[in-house]
This record gives sequence, structure tokens and C-alpha cells, in this order.
Amino acid sequence: MRKSALYTVLALLLQLGGCYPDRPVYTDRFLAFGTLVDITIVGASQQQAQEAARAVEEDFLKMHEAWHAWNPGPLGRTNEQLAVGIQFPAPPMILPLVKSGQALSARSRHLFNPAVGHLIDAWGFHDDNPEGHHPPPDAMIQELVLNNPRMSDIRIEGINLQSSNPSVKLDFGAFGKGYGIDLAVKHLKELGIKNAILNTGGDLRAFGSRNGIPWNIAIRRPDGAGVIATIKVSGDESIFTSGDYERYFSWRGKRYHHIIDPRTGYPAEGTRSVTVIHPDSTTADAAATALFVAGPDMWHEIARDMGIEFVMLIDAEGAIHMSPEMEQRLELLDTDRKTIISPPMTGSGTRGS
Ligand code: AMP
Ligand code: MG
Repeated sequence: MRKSALYTVLALLLQLGGCYPDRPVYTDRFLAFGTLVDITIVGASQQQAQEAARAVEEDFLKMHEAWHAWNPGPLGRTNEQLAVGIQFPAPPMILPLVKSGQALSARSRHLFNPAVGHLIDAWGFHDDNPEGHHPPPDAMIQELVLNNPRMSDIRIEGINLQSSNPSVKLDFGAFGKGYGIDLAVKHLKELGIKNAILNTGGDLRAFGSRNGIPWNIAIRRPDGAGVIATIKVSGDESIFTSGDYERYFSWRGKRYHHIIDPRTGYPAEGTRSVTVIHPDSTTADAAATALFVAGPDMWHEIARDMGIEFVMLIDAEGAIHMSPEMEQRLELLDTDRKTIISPPMTGSGTRGS
């Protein structure tokens, strides 16, 4: 009798051990890229989780130093050499971003354009807190747009870079965080972590689960008050949002936000926020910015070109535009908003209604 009770307890312990319900959820938080990075790890020992979190924090700090366009670090030096048009070896932290930046920019028809650093400077959006700024003069904006800096102006030969356009200035603000999360997740997986979320101010990549229960992610309303929808993560996915509430200043009663339409040189109009789901964070981050610029009329074709299946865009009137694939994935809390479902993102069919 006592023996069978012991076996029952043992069997139960083994079963529980298989999904680690007794292992605590480890959380940590640090500052990088001007935002708080939250890391959640499940299913690892306290020591393993702590070491993994420390490693990721170091990764982020290194990236932050390397990519800050306005510090005299590797990106600052790269920008100086691009401006004078000489050929030079790219710093190792910079080259992969130039390569993926080129590919993603081309696929977005240059709506995502990390070569527009001079425009971002002119607007003052390199500043973490741009409040108190005012718009640059129209003539300056026109000149910066006419200079037409493009990622395709940079020639890559082996590890060497050379720009044929002196107005190219790299700014990784629109996809550096995503790239950083991808690198950090790779590192976490190498360290044996099987379940985690890496969240930089609402932009995140989640993999595995919370003791067998899928990670459930809340998406903020564009006005910042509360949650508009939740999404359950399947396997290993990135969820990125670009919003006009993230960084902005007000001038003479008008609000100017930080996502610039490279075609006009002014903050993109018509969109409040865009949320995308994609396996990798680099693409998700670049795509959220590109689709924000594309706006309600163009997001669908750009998303198709960029290979993005799951998209939700909130327009200036507060209406929700989304792909039917995204509609399937969302638990929408704001059910009273006007909702426009696009044709499917994959295949050539349109929705039969
Ligand atoms: P995100 O919040 O990911 O949409 O990125 C916005 C940041 O990317 C801005 O603060 C700028 O530094 C930069 N940026 C703004 N507009 C663009 C654009 N059209 N293409 C690439 N980077 C941009
Ligand atoms: Mg982005």
C-alpha cells in the first residue's frame, strides 16, 4: 500500500518534471536602445536563466554602443566614410545590418530606408526625447529628399563598403532593435534556453511556451491607453508595432512623429500604428516601419512584396485594416471599431464577399 502510494507520487513528480511547472518564471529588465528590455525565461534553473540574461544584456549594450549614429563609434565612423565616398572595410557590427538593410529596403520599395539619417537628424528624432523641437525649414527637407539617399547607393565588395551618394547616412533606428533581438535570441538558444520572451518596449520575440501554455501578447491601443488586442504566439515568432505615439513633438498645435516618409521628408500621414507578426525580428521591425509609411492604401502590396502575412494597421480615423491571416490570430478587444479585412496575403485570390 505504502509502496504503491510512493510510486504514484514518483510518477506524478516525473510527469510534472517533464513540463517544469515547479520551475519559476525568471524575469529581468535592463536599459538598451533607449528603452527597457524585459526578458522572461521559463523552464531553466535560476542560475542558467540568470547567466543567459546577463549574456543578453552584454550583447545589447555592445550593439547599442556600436549602432548609435551620433556617437563616434563604428556607425559614426562608417557614416563619415560613406559621406566622402572612399572604399573602406565595414566594422563587423555594421556589415550585416547594411546587407539586410539593403535587401529589406529594396523589398519595401524604399519606404523603409535606413539611409535617411540626415532627414532624421534634421527632424531631431535621434533624440530620445524630442519634445521642444520644431520642424526643420521646408527648403531643407526638400533638399534632403532630392538628394535621394538609398541603401542601393552603397556598394558592398566582400567586407568593403563605398557610397556613390554623399547624402547617405545610416540610421538603424527602424530595425536595429529587431536585429538585436534576433542575435540575442540566437544566443539564448545556444545557452540552452527553450522558452523565453525578449521584449523591448512592446516589440518582442517569443519562443517556446509558459509551461506548455502559449505566450499571450497584448497589443497597445495607438492612444497608449489599454489593450486593443491579444495574440497567442505559435512556436517562435516576433511581434512588432510601429506607432506615432512612440516619439514625437508638438509645434504650433500640430504633432510631428518620428516615422518619416522618405518620398516627402515629412512624418508619414494616414496611419496611427502597424503591428506585424513574422518569424524573425529584423524583418518584422523593418516591415512595421515600411507599412506605417505605406499607409491604408498601400500596405497590402508592400506587405506582399516583403513576404509579411500577418498585418494590422490602425488608420488616422481609428479604423482597423488587417489581413485575414491576422484576423485569425487576433483576439480583438475593441470590437466596436470599423474593421476592413484585406484580400489574403498569399496566393492570388481575393476574399469572397
Ligand atoms: P520604428 O519605431 O521601428 O518604426 O522606427 C522609427 C525610427 O526609425 C525613427 O526614430 C528613425 O530613427 C528611423 N526612421 C524613421 N523613418 C524611417 C524610414 N522611413 N525608414 C527607415 N528608418 C526610419
Ligand atoms: Mg521598425
